[in-house]
Amino acid sequence: MKIAVVSGKGGTGKTTVATNLAWVLSQKGPVQLLDADVEEPNSHLFFHVKYTEEIDVEILLPRVDKEKCLLCGKCAKACQFGAISIFNTGVLIFDNLCHGCGTCSIACPTKAIYEISKQIGVVKIGQIDEKLTFGMGLLNIGEPSGVRVIRELKKFIDNSRTVIIDAPPGTSCPVVETLRGMDYAIMVTEATPFGLHDLKLAASVVKEMNIPMGIVINRASEDYKEIEEFAFSNDIPILEKIPFDRDIATSYSKGSLFVEEKKEWFERFERLYEKIAGVIV
Ligand code: SF4
Ligand code: SF4
Repeated sequence: MKIAVVSGKGGTGKTTVATNLAWVLSQKGPVQLLDADVEEPNSHLFFHVKYTEEIDVEILLPRVDKEKCLLCGKCAKACQFGAISIFNTGVLIFDNLCHGCGTCSIACPTKAIYEISKQIGVVKIGQIDEKLTFGMGLLNIGEPSGVRVIRELKKFIDNSRTVIIDAPPGTSCPVVETLRGMDYAIMVTEATPFGLHDLKLAASVVKEMNIPMGIVINRASEDYKEIEEFAFSNDIPILEKIPFDRDIATSYSKGSLFVEEKKEWFERFERLYEKIAGVIV
């Protein structure tokens, strides 16, 4: 089973849920934890990972052969990302906007565009212990999109294990790429109006992709019931509510897993998984 842990916004506790759940499940059977939050992966901070592989991720950037270029502008028109401008003197390519999609070279009528490769990040693969393997993507600072890094990371999915993927925050292309092929999405949110707003956006993406989902409310508060009302009215199960708790916050800040320190929470995460398994099977 492949489970993505997503959130409409950063800082909701997505990594807390992903890491604690992965560790709980690994006490019962083989698990793979993948961190696809490639702009700021931090799942590895909770474990001692022994890395065994590091793979460069590259994209192909276009370059123009001036001798063949007619300055027709078809490449600029074809680029959805505004990464090409045409001047009287030549074609200007903005590498920091280019997603390496290759559309411009297809659009060029004179084959004036050739490609050079550029390293945009890495994928690191390793082992935490016998039952728990690990992988993470890391995008170089300043690169416009982590989609390619996530795609490379997902090539290492081990279908013989339960897979937990810590997704990037938000609802943009990297999240969609992470969700592709997942069996279930855990939506982590917080009990605030901002949390609800971003939860609605994330839920609409997951629904559009036809992936079953459930909600974990982090820093849950009895004073803010709107998340539960949204869940009820949209028939989305609440998988767990994690309250404001000083011990849990302290565990996080120390880089420890609170399910290791609190037996009650170990059992609650086991039940959380059982609710998901009940939907998938
Ligand atoms: S490769 Fe794609 S994103 Fe980059 S300049 Fe060409 S069309 Fe634009
Ligand atoms: S499409 Fe080709 S020929 Fe036309 S401006 Fe772009 S690089 Fe030059």
